Amino acid sequence: MNYFTCNICRYTFCTEEECERCPDCGKKDLRPATEEEIAQYQKFREEFKDNKSNC
Ligand SMILES: [Zn+2]
Repeated sequence: MNYFTCNICRYTFCTEEECERCPDCGKKDLRPATEEEIAQYQKFREEFKDNKSNC
């Protein structure tokens, strides 16, 4: 599983496939997410019971 963060809108997401566009704003300015950003992402997922993605 790969975690990415968008440099434009700070959206963090995970994907199993290569991804070059931010799914939120559509810009091609992604970088690997830091451990802190991944932790925040997972906390957010838990709090909001977001089951839309499977990772
Ligand atoms: Zn974005």
